[in-house]
Amino acid sequence: MVERNWAGTHAFVAGRVHVPETIAEAQRVVAAAPRIHALGSRHSFNDAADSPGALIHLGQVPADFVLDAERRCVTLGAGTPYGALAAWLEARGWALHNMGSLPHITVAGATATGTHGSGDGNGTLSSAVCALELIRADGSLATVRRGEDGFAGMVVGLGAFGVVSRVSLDIQPSYQLRQDSFVGLPWARLIDDLDAVTSAAYSVSVMTKWSTPTAGRLWLKTRLADGRPATVDARHLGARPESAQHDTLLSDDPVERLTPFGGVPGPWSARLPHFRFDVPPSDAEEIQSEYMLPRATAPEAIRRLRAMGPAIDALLRMTEIRSMAADELWLSPAYGDPRVALHFTWKKRPAEIAAITRDIEDALLPLGARPHWGKLLHAPAARLAPLYPRLDDFRALATRWDPEGKFRNAYLARHVFGVA
Ligand SMILES: Cc1cc2nc3c(=O)[nH]c(=O)nc-3n(C[C@H](O)[C@H](O)[C@H](O)COP(=O)(O)OP(=O)(O)OC[C@H]3O[C@@H](n4cnc5c(N)ncnc54)[C@H](O)[C@@H]3O)c2cc1C
Repeated sequence: MVERNWAGTHAFVAGRVHVPETIAEAQRVVAAAPRIHALGSRHSFNDAADSPGALIHLGQVPADFVLDAERRCVTLGAGTPYGALAAWLEARGWALHNMGSLPHITVAGATATGTHGSGDGNGTLSSAVCALELIRADGSLATVRRGEDGFAGMVVGLGAFGVVSRVSLDIQPSYQLRQDSFVGLPWARLIDDLDAVTSAAYSVSVMTKWSTPTAGRLWLKTRLADGRPATVDARHLGARPESAQHDTLLSDDPVERLTPFGGVPGPWSARLPHFRFDVPPSDAEEIQSEYMLPRATAPEAIRRLRAMGPAIDALLRMTEIRSMAADELWLSPAYGDPRVALHFTWKKRPAEIAAITRDIEDALLPLGARPHWGKLLHAPAARLAPLYPRLDDFRALATRWDPEGKFRNAYLARHVFGVA
């Protein structure tokens, strides 16, 4: 039995976890279960993956990668971690457009919650999904492809439509990146010239606290074209290269857990994620929350958080600021417009974190912020509804696919259907 999520902040109520080894076995399990919900690698910081009945985890179903070079698409078992997919693709000369900071999460679990990396031109990981194969409530298999009816509603699906058994993703030829770290980014530059900061490289992260004299570290992941740039600079943003050899680059995580910095070129698979796939990512002594802001209101959001700086920093391990391109997936954090993501890795002090994240929601939701589906969030469906123009369509589609509510759970009732 899986008792808790990765961070230990949620105790699952589900009675048992099925771990089938084939899709056919998974179909039989789903057909026989009165209530069931899909579980990925348990990295969400809430009860999104829980069930009042049973759970089903597809991590033991073989990945069975299928590469379609002509259509630039890879299809694989949904319970496969991104790190395994990235290694398989890179070995064959192919790549994904982006990855999250952590390669240990499953493809189905990440895409079901709108997980993202960074980059003004890069959509969420969900935006790369071009087809889903699902196990429906009666155990039958269905495939939905990009452009077909319902597809845009089902990708960021939170497990509400069934158990995703296989996922197809867009791919592109492999590429190289370098990672460079800069310090001393002025707050004024970040707030007044946010577009210049987030567009400074293929993927940009600002790693900061809120009451510090400057906006901390600027991480640039620069894509190396054939005529590789000799240098990567951020002096035009008021930041200087990080010269000293630091023991830690990200919060208080040791550098040994991170992918290489210092401008060393490497494959996308070993530069886009912050954490290495071959070592445990961190001590799990954390809680995360994150808010995706329209670009127009992001500077005001940063100002409001700066005003709360001392209270936040007393509980904070690290904030990361990233960006993402717009997409058309109904419950995506970037549905309809490009977004700036304000992320918080908190100390594991649940009661205090619950209180301060309520305050942050109160400050940011009126600015149009969408909380991350896979992290700590409080807003009930009624408060989230104005932020997602297609929420009613999502509810109707999910009800059509699962009229008996086999895949419903308390999280969906509270945050999506508004019946809790
Ligand atoms: C250390 C750490 C770093 C992180 N970094 C990032 C980051 O860089 N960017 C970001 O956006 N997020 C990040 N996250 C959040 C993380 O990406 C999401 O919580 C993600 O959903 C976790 O995937 P999982 O496989 O653990 O899924 P789970 O947490 O197990 O499940 C999440 C959701 O996916 C659904 N699901 C899982 N499998 C299936 C399936 N087969 N079929 C249908 N539905 C399914 C579940 O029902 C649930 O609704 C991070 C989390 C951690 C712990």
